[in-house]
Amino acid sequence: MDNELTDHLQDAAPADEIRELRRQLDELRDEHQKLEIRVAEYQDLLNRNPATGLPIRRLFDAELGHALSSVRSRGRRRVLATGLLRLDGDYARIKNTRDRNRVLLYKTADRIREIVGDNIYQSDRLDEFLLIFRDMPNTDGVELRADQIVEAVSRFHEPPADDVRFGCYLGISIYPYHGTTREELLGNADIALIESERNGVPLVVYDDEMGVRYREREYIETELKLAIQSGFDGLDLHYQPLVDGNGRIRGAEALIRWDHGELGRISPSRFIPVAEEIGAVRFIGQWSLYRACRQLKQWHTAGYEDLYVSVNLSPSQFKQVDLVERIGGVIESVGLPERCLTLELTETTVMEEPEEAIAKMKDLQSMGVRLALDDFGTGYSSLSYLRRFEFDTLKIDRSFVTNVDMNRNDQEIVRAMVAMAKAFGMQTLAEGVERREELDFLMENGCDLVQGFLYSPAVVQHESVALVESGFARAR
Ligand code: C2E
Ligand code: CA
Ligand code: CA
Repeated sequence: MDNELTDHLQDAAPADEIRELRRQLDELRDEHQKLEIRVAEYQDLLNRNPATGLPIRRLFDAELGHALSSVRSRGRRRVLATGLLRLDGDYARIKNTRDRNRVLLYKTADRIREIVGDNIYQSDRLDEFLLIFRDMPNTDGVELRADQIVEAVSRFHEPPADDVRFGCYLGISIYPYHGTTREELLGNADIALIESERNGVPLVVYDDEMGVRYREREYIETELKLAIQSGFDGLDLHYQPLVDGNGRIRGAEALIRWDHGELGRISPSRFIPVAEEIGAVRFIGQWSLYRACRQLKQWHTAGYEDLYVSVNLSPSQFKQVDLVERIGGVIESVGLPERCLTLELTETTVMEEPEEAIAKMKDLQSMGVRLALDDFGTGYSSLSYLRRFEFDTLKIDRSFVTNVDMNRNDQEIVRAMVAMAKAFGMQTLAEGVERREELDFLMENGCDLVQGFLYSPAVVQHESVALVESGFARAR
């Protein structure tokens, strides 16, 4: 075409005009070529994350698709895996120091690249990478390689950043065992990643049981949100008597119940951790606290003025900055006298930030609220820290109480716990007493209060009224 054009011009125009036109044409060609290069450069830029230089998610999707079709066509002799890696550890600390962060991110990606070659991509988050494990002989091979990656990411960085060490969570799913499509594989790698983060384990390979558990949990999450939105529909508070050595009811622990239309009764041990994770436990907690206090007020009004109520406080509830005001607000609005509300905290709750916890506990206690250390013996159980926290009551965990009359070791532990509590001026309460023999041992060894099925499980509000009115709990 070009030649045709110049040939035609040769016939019609003088030679210098033709030369000029040729020159302009060459210039245009040059220009065009440069533009094409720049377009390619821009395209490349658009396809890469500027901070890490890694190809972006869209390219990963396409590439995983190709890899899948290629492994499918070669039969089942090789496996293909995909991984989702999220940074942790010091990453959170340096996240906001922009420059250093960029270099270290880049270097981290580079370490992974040394192991998987070009099979690393940037996800939509800066701290998350997508991986393809191609042409692996078997699942062991995948795990081995994944281990190498975890190890490489978790090494200290070089000076001057040698005080920085990232950790990571890596979730893996493997074709054909955990899915045959891109969506399935990625979805399951994501579930493995969530599991990895939840349990603080750096490497998790998906399995079916994990999938079932995850989906069930998702269901509980959705349903719980709905229940809360619809005014705590299906949720109720039950009360379990706290009984002294003479069989007298001294108080009650408020325990939440959830009756779900389809799933039936869901144990708080299953849904409270979910509520905790999604931040809903604060609403539930406030609701329980208010209800429990109102119930206690009714008992007081009916003449049982010595009774107290004990309410569980979850870690994130305890963490609320305005916790003391909130609790004070509830007590005041219900019109309860001092010293009849006990809050139950676990060791994990107070150990997270001990100094703040101690200050908060003092504020609560100076308001007249009592504090109980729940599930004692299952956590850190360091005796020395206990003194600093000044709980009013020590709740000996059920695991030491069950068959305590038959187990020498548990007997020693319970005796030590009671002695220590006494030395620190704390009351003791044994949880989960189911048998007469357990009760006898506990009472003989100076335990102040017990709680358990021997006397009564947690009962609905109207039954609890009958229990309270009887004044004494009868061992069954
Ligand atoms: P927890 O605070 O240790 O509560 C005691 C648990 O032991 C209750 O289980 C109670 O029903 C059970 N129990 C009591 N006596 C016996 C017994 O003799 N034998 C046996 N085997 N079990 C006994 P539940 O009600 O399923 O509660 C489980 C956990 O859920 C509670 O453990 C507590 O941590 C949490 N929870 C319950 N209600 C609330 C709430 O309103 N707020 C918060 N944050 N957590 C709650
Ligand atoms: Ca409790
Ligand atoms: Ca407990």
